[in-house]
Amino acid sequence: MKLLVVGGGGREHALAWKLAQSPRVQLVYVAPGNGGTASDERLRNVDITDLNALADFVEQEQIALTVVGPEAPLAAGIVNVFRQRGLKVFGPSKEAAQLESSKDFAKAFMKRHGIPTAEYETFSDAALAHAYVDRKGAPIVIKADGLAAGKGVVVAQTLDEAHGAIDMMLADNKLGDAGARVVVEEFLAGEEASFIVMVDGKHVLALASSQDHKRLLDEDRGPNTGGMGAYSPAPIVTPQLHARVMREIILPTVRGMEKEGIRYTGFLYAGLMIDSEGNPKTLEFNCRMGDPETQPIMARLKGDFSKVLEAAIAGTLDTVELTWDRRTALGVVLAAHNYPDTPRKGDRINGIPAETENAVTFHAGTSLVDGKLVTSGGRVLCVVGLSDSVRGAQSAAYETINQISFDGMQYRRDIGYRALNRKH
Ligand code: ATP
Repeated sequence: MKLLVVGGGGREHALAWKLAQSPRVQLVYVAPGNGGTASDERLRNVDITDLNALADFVEQEQIALTVVGPEAPLAAGIVNVFRQRGLKVFGPSKEAAQLESSKDFAKAFMKRHGIPTAEYETFSDAALAHAYVDRKGAPIVIKADGLAAGKGVVVAQTLDEAHGAIDMMLADNKLGDAGARVVVEEFLAGEEASFIVMVDGKHVLALASSQDHKRLLDEDRGPNTGGMGAYSPAPIVTPQLHARVMREIILPTVRGMEKEGIRYTGFLYAGLMIDSEGNPKTLEFNCRMGDPETQPIMARLKGDFSKVLEAAIAGTLDTVELTWDRRTALGVVLAAHNYPDTPRKGDRINGIPAETENAVTFHAGTSLVDGKLVTSGGRVLCVVGLSDSVRGAQSAAYETINQISFDGMQYRRDIGYRALNRKH
């Protein structure tokens, strides 16, 4: 069978890599893909972005099923278009994707259904937002309502910063429509974890736990990024916490959507903040897998993922049991010069070693130009190491990184530090 993965980041490379391992999968198309998916003979890039043209391609090529990686095509309604045309696709509809595409929708939804989250109010009037922030004090969090590619959240440590963020979004309109409304939210202290499940409309299947590293620099300093590294499993997600998150957050979300007439299908990602007593609250929902969490998760997943996707589309996820490599997988993102601002493109990438039992390199912002691999985006590669211990997985990843080079390459040296601090 032939499959299609929509997207071109590290997450999509990891999904396509995993799907291509299935003996019944002949070819995985990736739209648009990257330099990594272009270099693997089991994968083929497709340069089509228009949703109807992509659906035409799926019909022509008789692609058995499509899985969608990023939020933008989901929010644009790719699942609605494909379903209308009778094509098998895994992802949420445009309506369901509002859980991610509108923070106001997500917050109001959580409130209606008693799902634990930070207190908040939504504003479109800057003066009212300023007054609210003055009343609440700092630290406080200012979030653009719409999708802003990771630039829409300001965790303000001072009132000045909070007022500045409100002005940037509401008065100066710097984020366009995405910032026309802002959610002002209580600051939550604690440790973050990523909780990702698959939903077929009714049944929920949890993937392995993971933890991202949002900040650019070691010790969680510097600006927020799309994510600089992740590992799986995350020891903070104990079996007890897992059960609680399913009971208090995931299941009420899926049931709540159903009650509101929206059948949720697709990956559902709850970004959690876990306080010092172990109580989870929902920071945000994403309607897709996380990037870079997908890379270590796919590196650990055993079995035929194409069958899991088939069951998810057929509504029979209750019959599926996932099995995981018991080892820890730890992924380190190699970013381009000047990321996360305006990353430089076109730097030649050298030295990516072949995949081994203990290490695999997924591509993100790379492209093949005249047969040569160059940087073409902010996050360039994600190197995943696997080992029985977190320390071992870390060593496997960093030993691989030592062989890779491109001008301006930057990465964190401390991915996995929370898990290491916990265990020792
Ligand atoms: P993503 O790129 O993960 O989709 P996003 O732009 O949708 O992110 P959020 O995940 O809501 O934004 O927030 C980004 C980061 O800001 C979080 O990972 C967390 O570190 C921090 N953050 C968000 N809300 C809060 C809060 N209420 N209290 C403390 N920190 C927060």
